[in-house]
Amino acid sequence: METITKHSALNIQKLRQDFPILCQKVNGKPLVYLDNGATTQKPKQVIDAISNYYQTQNANVHRGVHQLSQEITVAYENARVTVQKHLNAALSQEIIFTSGTTESINLVASSFGGGNIKSGDEIIISEMEHHSNILPWQMLCEKIGTILIVIPINEKGELLIDEYKKLLCGKTKIVAVTHVSNTLGTINPVKEIIELAHEKNIPVLIDGAQAVPHLKVDVQALDADFYCFSGHKLFGPTGVGILYGKEKWLNEMPPYKVGGGTIKTVTFIKTEYADLPLKFEAGTPHIEGGIGLAAAIDYVNEIGLENIGAYECELLEYATLKLSAIEGLRIIGTAKEKASVISFVIEEIHPLDVGTILDKQGIAVRTGHHCTQPLMEHFGIPGTIRASLVFYNTKEEIDVLVNGIQKAIKMLK
Ligand code: PMP
Repeated sequence: METITKHSALNIQKLRQDFPILCQKVNGKPLVYLDNGATTQKPKQVIDAISNYYQTQNANVHRGVHQLSQEITVAYENARVTVQKHLNAALSQEIIFTSGTTESINLVASSFGGGNIKSGDEIIISEMEHHSNILPWQMLCEKIGTILIVIPINEKGELLIDEYKKLLCGKTKIVAVTHVSNTLGTINPVKEIIELAHEKNIPVLIDGAQAVPHLKVDVQALDADFYCFSGHKLFGPTGVGILYGKEKWLNEMPPYKVGGGTIKTVTFIKTEYADLPLKFEAGTPHIEGGIGLAAAIDYVNEIGLENIGAYECELLEYATLKLSAIEGLRIIGTAKEKASVISFVIEEIHPLDVGTILDKQGIAVRTGHHCTQPLMEHFGIPGTIRASLVFYNTKEEIDVLVNGIQKAIKMLK
């Protein structure tokens, strides 16, 4: 892969050739894929890794003495090490394979929450959380009488850190916030959020679902207690995700799901559970998911997240300028620190109608509440139109989006 490492000078046309789906036509028009916040497309390096697994490596992991099983076990455990290095985790056993961000958060809420949180304690989340980082905590609250406390945001879509400081107290048992908002694009100051919580010995979970495709994440530098993300938003396969957890927490936490693979010994009287990470990985894992995720991480690292970030910054600036110039269009989420996600509404037009007209022009955007209904309530809107951009998007595609929106406005007004 040829990459020019000069600031924001990636060879985008060449990189696009790695993504077979991008040369498709949709509704007779070249596909303009701007729904990367929902899921990213997969480069052939990832597709090939998965295909190669089924063609040459397929066997179950951790169990067999035979050659194929041994080889795939090594490959699967190497994939774990790839994730460990990517996040700069201290230990590979701090990397737990899950089915995605949602399961990672459920695991912590259930396993950490079940043992460490009691009635009257408090859990802090924020107003901009995805439902996946609200509901597991809300369910825990309903079950054991814990109180859910919410960090408010300002009109730009930034967390009010001074308010957050006031919310931290002796009753707070965990803070769970998103690194990057899927709806607003806001990049939250998670290092500061963690530092403030740690001053009071409170652990912090970071929902990194929307951060990992855009930012270099270093869990040790952040000092995060838990960090979660999904493979499919990082150019990897669906159905696989990661829970990073500090060893000291994971060792204390009971298994979340149990079954084959999670044990040392079983009798009908008592079971002794396996050490990390297997304690949390019940049943046959998503083997090709792990292999594909490692291939995706290698792919991204070959391009370089710094290069990706610089180019996406340019794209965001361009898109913000062009979209802001459309009469009646209002951007929702104007934080100073933003990833390449732009949500907007158009005066007197329902987002769904715009999305439908854009689709006819081959443009894939997302419309609706983006699984952040409380955030929509904050802004007093039913939903937004969201264009979420990654490194394979281009300024030309943003021009196509702008033309498409203008067409939609003409048709709908
Ligand atoms: N958190 C955030 C911020 C997200 O954007 C998403 C996916 N839209 C999730 C959590 C849930 O991810 P998944 O569906 O892959 O579990």
